[in-house]
Parts: sequence; structure tokens; C-alpha cells
Amino acid sequence: MSCLFCKIVEGTIPSRKVYEDEHVLAFHDIAPQAPVHILVIPKQHFAALNDAQPEHIELLGRIQLAAQHVAKEAGIAESGYRVVTNNGPDAGQVVFHIHYHVLGGEKLATLGGKE
Ligand code: 5GP
Ligand code: ZN
Repeated sequence: MSCLFCKIVEGTIPSRKVYEDEHVLAFHDIAPQAPVHILVIPKQHFAALNDAQPEHIELLGRIQLAAQHVAKEAGIAESGYRVVTNNGPDAGQVVFHIHYHVLGGEKLATLGGKE
């Protein structure tokens, strides 16, 4: 399996885990873009939101609740946070195992910035 995040799920690549259950894993991003930058991923591999199917509805909900959970644990639930998934080239997706960024711990830039 060549997928980076599948290797993190398997434990063959280390990560700083903050939450794990049967379906979902959350760990600190290696190159944080904010004081809190956690990635939430399904253990099941699919590449991007484009590949989500009706069978993933429950899993997608679990990711939302895991994002809420890690935000609470990181102490940013009240100050505020953003949950983002990048899909495809224009969004700058570089890892093709779907993942949700949980960002916070400071006032975040306005959404939709251009390079
Ligand atoms: P994307 O641009 O695909 O939405 O986000 C990929 C994210 O994965 C980036 O924020 C990047 O810093 C993070 N990342 C890439 N490789 C690793 C890694 O080996 N470990 C961790 N923890 N994060 C990684
Ligand atoms: Zn994968």
C-alpha cells in the first residue's frame, strides 16, 4: 500500500495521534498552518470528497464528530475553528486519502484566499 495516510493508519509511518476509534484517526499535521492543525481521516481509504458514496454517509458524520471532539480536546471549541477538506488541484490537495483539516488557535484568514 503506497498511500501515506494508509501507512499512518497502519502505524508504519509515525504520527502524533490525538484521537482514534474503529473508523477514524486524528493526528497533528506535520507542517501546521495554525497553532492547532489536526488532520481527521477515515481509516478506510478513499481519495477525496469526489469519491464519497452514499455508503460513506455514516463515516462522513463520524469525521465531523471527531473534528468536534479534537477541537474540544485542543481547547479551541469556544474560540473557534475551521474544518476544511481540499478536493483536487485548484484546492491544493496533495495527499489523496481524504482528510479534514481542523484549524484554530488564532484568528483565521478569510476563506477563499488566492495565491
Ligand atoms: P492537502 O494539501 O492534501 O489537503 O493536505 C495534506 C496535509 O498533510 C498537509 O497539511 C501536510 O502538511 C500534511 N502531511 C503531509 N505529509 C504528512 C506526514 O507524513 N505526516 C503528517 N502528520 N502530516 C503530513
Ligand atoms: Zn490511504
